[in-house]
Amino acid sequence: MEITKHLLMNLSLLLVLLFFTQLIVERQAKEDKQDRLQLYYFILAIFTCYVFTIEVQDGIWFDLRQVPMILGSLYTGHSFLLAVLTLIMRGFMGINDGFWVSVIVFIILAFLLKRMHPWFNRLSLNQRVGVSVILTVMTSLVLIQLVAVVNVPISHTEAWVSFILIPALTAGLVSYTIETIRQTVIIRQRLAKADKIEAVSHLSAAISHEIRNPLTTVKGFLQLLREQSYPENKKKEFIDIAVQELDRAEEVINDYLTFARPAFEKVEDIDIEKELTQVINILNPLANLNGVEVRKRFTHGLLISGERSKFQQGFINLIKNALEAMPSGGELTVQTFLTGNVAHIVVKDTGVGMTEEQVARLGEPYYTTKGQQGTGLGMMVTFSIIRAMKGKVEIKSQPGNGTTFHIRFSTSIVE
Ligand code: ADP
Ligand code: MG
Repeated sequence: MEITKHLLMNLSLLLVLLFFTQLIVERQAKEDKQDRLQLYYFILAIFTCYVFTIEVQDGIWFDLRQVPMILGSLYTGHSFLLAVLTLIMRGFMGINDGFWVSVIVFIILAFLLKRMHPWFNRLSLNQRVGVSVILTVMTSLVLIQLVAVVNVPISHTEAWVSFILIPALTAGLVSYTIETIRQTVIIRQRLAKADKIEAVSHLSAAISHEIRNPLTTVKGFLQLLREQSYPENKKKEFIDIAVQELDRAEEVINDYLTFARPAFEKVEDIDIEKELTQVINILNPLANLNGVEVRKRFTHGLLISGERSKFQQGFINLIKNALEAMPSGGELTVQTFLTGNVAHIVVKDTGVGMTEEQVARLGEPYYTTKGQQGTGLGMMVTFSIIRAMKGKVEIKSQPGNGTTFHIRFSTSIVE
């Protein structure tokens, strides 16, 4: 049983190593790096086999070396490198008949495998596993026969079994594992691609809807103004509508651009009070229009780091929603404070509020309850900015009772 136990140990170690390599390979985006990692695995595997080598009879060493050599050649195409490595390792065990048999077998094998590599890659999953197993068994048989010719025949039945069966099992398991993981990677890539295509089609729908429509309206008004003369107040009304439409288009473009690149181009100190005051000033016309009373309770000197314009964009979207949730008046409270090294920003409205389901969908692209008026992009952008600044958001909302957004950022400096 000694030999079987030894080889089974070797087998388990090869599989454990394989799992770890495949985990790393999977996380590598670049294909050439993946291939190189795969090759490293087989080199390491050959080395492991020699650690586990066992002398069954005088000068005859058994191990699983043919498995990484064969599979490595089939999967990576580096058959000569692997053959030479195998032989060098075998050389350490002693230059004797067994060694020369290995030289002949592995050199011939390297030539064969080199030619088989492109063909092997075109096979189906099951065929590849099958070919790996068959080649391993054939190599084992040839090796054992040749050793028997030049040396004493191997009598041990157990040796026969372990030298044929366990390598075949190892080849099957290793190649099956590689194939399954490859398959998952391919499926995941396909999904990512489908996602991207969906995003592009959404984007084009959004562009035609949110940007072309306003442009058409503006163009219409400009044509009217050119073709006829209108009284001053009519002209002003046209221009106001046109400006509103352009504002909306600009908003959508801003959201898309911010979302597409939430990573910061420059990191600067953000004085929370200053930026939020500016956001509130920008949104003041909307607050007045809706009859909302704005309360500011700022703690002075709270600094966090990030990109100022993005921070503003994020809070414009958030506070604009709060104002829009109070179409017939209410109260907006924007409060900031510090606990430990955490800067808190609380935005509270007394608006329409949201159900649990609505809160859960917040930030989903194109999720809006505002019909034609909404884009469903605002919160998505806000969340992506807060995430990029490593902030945390907590939302409390009740239909009819208003909404509170509680955002936490870690602050490095307090003035
Ligand atoms: P949009 O404002 O264009 O609808 P957003 O992503 O900004 O898109 O918001 C998505 C939805 O979340 C809104 O349509 C609204 O239903 C809900 N929402 C966001 N903020 C609030 C709030 N403060 N109070 C009530 N509902 C809100
Ligand atoms: Mg919004």
